[in-house]
Amino acid sequence: MERPNIKNFFSENTTPQMVNNLFLEQPELYNYIQALDNYIDYLSSQLEPLKKNAEGLLPCPFCKSEPQIASLGGDKENWIVLCPNCQRASVEMGINGAETKEDCIAMWNERA
Ligand SMILES: [Zn+2]
Repeated sequence: MERPNIKNFFSENTTPQMVNNLFLEQPELYNYIQALDNYIDYLSSQLEPLKKNAEGLLPCPFCKSEPQIASLGGDKENWIVLCPNCQRASVEMGINGAETKEDCIAMWNERA
């Protein structure tokens, strides 16, 4: 969801000077908007861990980039997660050769 732009709450005829005057006349309104802005930032940061990618993986816990999942193959498939940004692998998080993709995703998400 896009963050609303404050300009959208005023009519087209409203000039920046009019907005400025409004805040000068009602400084508490400006403080209120600032508080709301800070609260939106706080809520966004709280929601960050809930942002899973298409594979269902949470962001990399080290750099918050989108990780990738792959199988090294072999008898037991050996699923691992890699972060293309910081080059960290799920092995560093104690996830070593998960036998199914679902297990690997679940193990990554528990630690991410
Ligand atoms: Zn990373």
